[in-house]
Amino acid sequence: MTLKICNTMSGKVEPFKPRVKNKVTIYVCGPTVYDYSHIGHGKTYMSFDLITRYLEYKGYDVKYVVNITDIDDKIIKRANESGMDPLELAKKFEKAFHCDMHALGIKDADVYPTVSGHIPEIIEIIQILIKKGFAYVVDSDVYFTVSKVEDYGKLAHQTLDAIKSGARVEVDRRKKNPADFALWKSSKAGEPHWSSPWGEGRPGWHIECTAMSMKYLGQQIDIHGGGRDLIFPHHENELAQSEAYSGKKPFASYWLHTGFLTINGEKMSKSLGNFITIIDLLEEWNPEVFRLFILSTHYRKPVNFTQKTLEHQKQSLRRIYNTVDNLRLHIQNTQKIEIQDRLEEEIQKQISRVKDAIINGMDNDFNTPKALSEFYNLIKIGNKVIAEKMGKSTTTMVLNTIMEIAHVFGLLEKKRKVEALPEEIQMLLKEREMSRNKKNWKKADEIRLKLKSMGIIVEDKPEGTQWRYQS
Ligand code: AMP
Ligand code: ZN
Repeated sequence: MTLKICNTMSGKVEPFKPRVKNKVTIYVCGPTVYDYSHIGHGKTYMSFDLITRYLEYKGYDVKYVVNITDIDDKIIKRANESGMDPLELAKKFEKAFHCDMHALGIKDADVYPTVSGHIPEIIEIIQILIKKGFAYVVDSDVYFTVSKVEDYGKLAHQTLDAIKSGARVEVDRRKKNPADFALWKSSKAGEPHWSSPWGEGRPGWHIECTAMSMKYLGQQIDIHGGGRDLIFPHHENELAQSEAYSGKKPFASYWLHTGFLTINGEKMSKSLGNFITIIDLLEEWNPEVFRLFILSTHYRKPVNFTQKTLEHQKQSLRRIYNTVDNLRLHIQNTQKIEIQDRLEEEIQKQISRVKDAIINGMDNDFNTPKALSEFYNLIKIGNKVIAEKMGKSTTTMVLNTIMEIAHVFGLLEKKRKVEALPEEIQMLLKEREMSRNKKNWKKADEIRLKLKSMGIIVEDKPEGTQWRYQS
């Protein structure tokens, strides 16, 4: 089964072919850190969490970068209002963003580069764009010349003329063309600033993503993502300047854009004041309830947030946990080991069919609602296995499959208590701990291998030994 992805550039669902076999590079535009993140941000980053988890599940070696916009007009404005230093304010909300992501069970990206940490890289790219004739200096500002890029507008599917007339509202006489955008802005008093060949100033918004994606992932990337509001102008401009810089090397093979989280049908946003912060959400709801809510809609589609929908997801989550707990209990208590009869044989075949259907769903442009509905079929099979008192091997098979898929979905992560594991595994974990305490590394490694053969992966981390189901 091959993975297919909907590419905003072509508007089509295309087979996924990474640039380098078995490796995927992915860059997602990160938050502008001037306030606490809301659940609309949560939707976008959770969607990409699901996408990267699935790519890893498919065996790809994923390198994932999310930038942090810590220099921006909104940050400066908020800092001036609160009397804080803009970079300090940004640092505070950058930390809060990471806390929120962790609380939502979103796995860390490999790198979270900040704009303030990449000024020399940004300046270097701007210098080359000027040298190549793609940018010009006016006073101490630098602008990108969009008319130099023949295919400008190709991502947003707009012509330059349409874009120009749209941009005319905010005419800046110093620009050669209303659609030209700032690469470097001279700084006003009290703004953060850095020295540059054009004077003291700071980068424009779009250039940071070209500089940071190229630094960490190279001039060309497999997947570029963000919310759909970023298609224009942000991604169009990133694309134009990146390809101008690299000599027309296609910047990203696949452009992925998430639909908005809405409330009363309107995009949730800071400016509309209709937002719920992630912190507020988690005071009331389990993060996995929110995850089920996100999983139940395709990442490209909008999803409307209501308490009623979350209540419904809460019930579903409870049912999933109940089944899993009962399966574990049944494995501990049952005396039956081997397959008993034709019904069990049939159930084992059904489990494989459902798993294939889940993979098929995810392969079809990460169709999580389809995959989730099949996952519920797996839960139903689990209930049947318990009700029919089936043997250990069938019960273990269904439990392992549920856990394997749950890990891809980022579900059932919280309740992995040792007490819930079969006794034999509990004993082995304890024995291994004792061997490690006695510094008997050889024995500890042998037990680790044994556990691996039983589907349990053990990892020794600074915070202690952790285990998880093999995925
Ligand atoms: P910002 O900090 O506003 O630049 O947003 C960071 C990311 O969150 C961008 O990819 C946005 O497109 C995305 N985003 C912002 N609001 C929403 C929303 N209501 N629903 C989904 N994604 C959003
Ligand atoms: Zn960006």
